Amino acid sequence: MPSLQEILDRQVAEAAPELTEQLDRNRTRCLACGHRCPIAEGQSGVCKVRFNRGGKLYAPWGYVGGVQCDPIEKKPFFHVSSGALAYSFGMLGCDLHCSYCQNWVTSQALRENVPGIRPISTSPEQLVDEALRQGARVLVSTYNEPLITAEWAAAVFLLAKAAGLMTGFVSNGNATPQVLEFLSPVLDLYKVDLKSFDEQHYHSLGGRLQPILDSIRRIHQMGLWLEIVTLVIPGFNDSEGELSALAEFIASVSPDIPWHVTAFHKDYRMTDPEDTTPEMLLRAAEIGKRAGLRYVYAGNQPSRVGDLENTRCPSCHALLVERLGYLIRGYHLTAEGRCPSCSLQIPGRWDSAFRGQIAAFPFAPQYR
Ligand code: SF4
Repeated sequence: MPSLQEILDRQVAEAAPELTEQLDRNRTRCLACGHRCPIAEGQSGVCKVRFNRGGKLYAPWGYVGGVQCDPIEKKPFFHVSSGALAYSFGMLGCDLHCSYCQNWVTSQALRENVPGIRPISTSPEQLVDEALRQGARVLVSTYNEPLITAEWAAAVFLLAKAAGLMTGFVSNGNATPQVLEFLSPVLDLYKVDLKSFDEQHYHSLGGRLQPILDSIRRIHQMGLWLEIVTLVIPGFNDSEGELSALAEFIASVSPDIPWHVTAFHKDYRMTDPEDTTPEMLLRAAEIGKRAGLRYVYAGNQPSRVGDLENTRCPSCHALLVERLGYLIRGYHLTAEGRCPSCSLQIPGRWDSAFRGQIAAFPFAPQYR
């Protein structure tokens, strides 16, 4: 019985030249994420899914670890086609190793040798066809870190865009300028999980803060639609100083970037901190508003965070999009995405009208 690593080592294609730098002695440097691993022949990078064989870099190809139909509000994108269905796929592996990962079964499948996890072979055509059949309007690479499988995402997204779908990444943001350039022709939406504003904290998760901050600036400059999420973890990243600095950074990029503060629950290896309470989220959201952010949301605690699930006009406070969890309960933006009361243009990728909601909860697609 082949191991998962052996199976995945066969589900590959040569990496994109844009994401590869040839080094001396048959080594290659991978440019798909901020680690920029120099990889000797026969070795793999930190993510364990990209490797050097015979002096060539190989990248994952031709499979998914899982698919799911999610309301777009779950990703979360709150300023994009409210109520749309987001057909979501992931591969396997990650470049970080967060001890609280809520997708660890797929993201850490190789490090943890999770039993029963196997790739499901598929093609870009099949994924796009299935997304259309389900009525999705967005196709999203998520559940593992999509940067490390950028070539596969780009192939899927190329077809998706030709079919009229929007495309998105749910990512830790540990990107490089090269991978963002590579993706930008086929990518519309980018959610970054900004986990902390402390270098030591990022170090404990296996990453560095600066490449992520640089990527956030770059993603915004490139004109992709950007929303940022911070999972508020008691005792880890929820100090006044850290949350203030983080929110001030986002506001310095643009006060119009939506910031979602979401609730932690014990998972994977992080079982010490208490679960995040609604009061903790309200406090974090207040810090965000004080920093000048105009659109701050609180997640994972439906109906327990007051008005923080809704979108309000930052100028006249009119209610624009009313939510309960992932359910859209009211939609009042104009066809141009303006506040109906004071006509302020609300940033986002809005539809000309609310087009209904296929599902307010995630579901697994039923295959024919
Ligand atoms: S994706 Fe990141 S972790 Fe993986 S090989 Fe490339 S640079 Fe290294």
